[in-house]
Formats: sequence, structure tokens, C-alpha cells
Amino acid sequence: MKLHEYQSKRIFARYGVPIPEGDVATTPEEARAIAERLGGPVVIKSQVLVGGRGKAGGIKLAKTPDEAERLAAQILSMEIKGLPVRKVLVDRAADIRQEIYLGVVVDRAAARPVMMASSEGGVEIEEVARTNPEAIKKVHVDPFIGLRGYQTRYLAKGIGLDPTFHRQFDRIAHGLYQAFVESDASLAEINPLVVTANEDGSLSLLAVDGKMVLDDNGLFRHPDLAEMRDVDEETPTEREAREAGLSYVQLEGEIGCMVNGAGLAMATMDIIKHFGGEPANFLDIGGGAKAERVATALRLILADPNVKAVLFNIFGGITRCDEVARGILTALEEVKPDVPMVARLVGTNEEEGRRLLEESGYSMITATTLAEAAQKAVEAARNT
Ligand code: GDP
Ligand code: MN
Repeated sequence: MKLHEYQSKRIFARYGVPIPEGDVATTPEEARAIAERLGGPVVIKSQVLVGGRGKAGGIKLAKTPDEAERLAAQILSMEIKGLPVRKVLVDRAADIRQEIYLGVVVDRAAARPVMMASSEGGVEIEEVARTNPEAIKKVHVDPFIGLRGYQTRYLAKGIGLDPTFHRQFDRIAHGLYQAFVESDASLAEINPLVVTANEDGSLSLLAVDGKMVLDDNGLFRHPDLAEMRDVDEETPTEREAREAGLSYVQLEGEIGCMVNGAGLAMATMDIIKHFGGEPANFLDIGGGAKAERVATALRLILADPNVKAVLFNIFGGITRCDEVARGILTALEEVKPDVPMVARLVGTNEEEGRRLLEESGYSMITATTLAEAAQKAVEAARNT
């Protein structure tokens, strides 16, 4: 689950990371009121769950409350990468002298978090990794020992940060790391972390942007964070899938897949590609799926206009093949698909499952091995 910039920064702030003063507005009038309260120049920032808002025109500087209202109206009527802007963050504008990057992600290969810093702030870290990898400094953090002072010093020095900011950098890095761990995040990022000039002329660090991705599997431990989910940012399909307990990812291909188990779903997609097809989705109905969940899954697949064939690949263990067959039939009664369907049901109660499908009268292509099923699905999609 992704958090908005304003949500991420508020979490960071609880861990002592300095953020600009500001608030969220859903109307131009609210934006104006916030600007008036803050006094002085503000930035109006679209709150959408995609990167590169700046380049897309979703971040604007306003010198007066009048201008804040006008720009907020403009940004609130925008769509960024297909997402309508429904909220803007109005922050006190920072006088930026230097932009750096600071982030923590899970390094799966190393089986621990890695903290990264770069002197090239404001640029996407993936791009820096491509164009100027030496600019990125990394430290792996032992989850039992935690982030150590020598590690943050290594990062600060490595990116050439002026020593006057090292102490503050250390505090921010620790705050960010703590926020990451205690939220069960898979990513926590400040980009840019800036050196800003304060009113009295002194310089200090400030987190101007924030981004967090939380591990959905950890959300049950954080009801307060789970509540932050912005359902407006989900497509109706994603929302229906989540509420039904399905792992669903829409893709561009033409073969709709219904599979039980994430690993088997990945393998199914691979083998479809191997035989020259393209999967229309990743869909894991999970273990022990009941007929109702299977029916929802099939409805989601068939709602995709690109789907030219459907492949059911069910390996019955805890999931019973007859239960899956019942779900398929329930869905077929509602949505009358005009695309061919290939079923491979093996394992627990497979005979019963197959019998149900056969007796139903729906023409269903059957297969016993995964390779055979994939080939038949690719073939069927071609002939549709
Ligand atoms: P992103 O484009 O979605 O990553 O949004 P950011 O919040 O990172 O903003 C993009 C860029 O806008 C930053 O790298 C800064 O250069 C600039 N920016 C953001 N906030 C301020 C601000 O308060 N003052 C100034 N002068 N520039 C800002
Ligand atoms: Mn940014």
C-alpha cells in the first residue's frame, strides 16, 4: 500500500524528521486559507500516488494567497498519469540550497534493509542508478543491531554533505529508519532532503518530499496506517479484488489467468509467454478459496475487454477442485462469456471438479499438464 506524500511526511515528523509546515486542501478556497495562515510563499503539491509530479506540472510555487488559490484550482482539475488530482498539499515554500536523496528499502537478496543516500536529490533514484551509480552510497542495516552512527557518517561523507549538517543528517536517518521499521514498510524515502535557508539566515536540513510503501501483510498490526488507504486511488477492479481477498494485477495481454498460489501463478504466466501468448493478469485466488471468491475472480477476468481466452490452473491441496468448479459455474451463470476457457484442475477432488464442469454443459477445454493447458489457451486466444 502506497501512502501519499503528506501522509508519509507526517509519519516521518513523528520520528523527528523536520518537514515544512503545511496542510492538505481539497478546494482552491481551502488552499487559499492555508496560504494565508502560513504567510509568505507556498508550494502547491498534487497528492497522487505516482512519481514525477513536478515534471507533470503538479507542483507549483505561489507567492500570494491569490496565486495559491488560482494554482490550486488549476492543479485540482488536472489528471496526472491517468489519476485525477483530488487533494493538494500546501506547504511553506523552502529556500532550497542543495537537494539530496535519502531512502530505505528492503534488499531481498541481502535479507535486510538497505539505506541509500545520493548527492543527486530530486532525481528518481532508479535514474541515478542508471546514469551515475557512483553518486549512490549504501549501507545495509542489521535488523537486530539497528542503524549505527558510523553508517550514517559514512553516508553523509560519501555524498559530500557539509560536516555542519552531519549531526542533523544522523538524526534524520535514524528517524527515517525507525519509521520504516515500526510501520512495516518496504520503502521509506525522502527525495529531496534539502539544505534550506531559514528566516534568520541559518541553514538546516528539511524533508521536502516523502514517500512510503507499506507491506500489506503487516497492515493488520497497524490499524491506524491501514485507515490511511486512499480508495480513490484504486481502480474499481483493484478495489473489488482486494475486498474479496484476491491478489490481482492487471496486465496487457490476452489470456486471463486464474490460479491458486502466487508461485504457481508466476509459473503459469511464464509458461504462457513461453508458448507465445501474453497473460492478461496475475491472479492468485489464494489457498482454500470458496466458490464465491472464485466467482468474483472470474468476473474480474471477464470484465477485461482484452481477454480472448481464460486459463484456470488449479492445483488442489487445501483448495478443493470441486469448490473451484462450483465457483466457476456460479460466475458463468451471471456473466455469459464469449471467449474459450481452458481448465486444468488437478489434486484434491479433481474428478468431482471435472464432472461438475462437464455436466454443466459449458464447453470447456480441459488439460492435464500445465504445458498442455498453456498451449491450448494460447491456441484458443489466437482463434478468437
Ligand atoms: P516529485 O516531482 O513528485 O518527486 O515532487 P517533489 O516534492 O520531490 O518536488 C519536485 C521538485 O520541486 C523538488 O525536487 C524541488 O526542486 C521542487 N520543490 C519542491 N518543494 C519546493 C519548495 O518548497 N521550494 C522550492 N524552491 N522548490 C521546491
Ligand atoms: Mn520527489
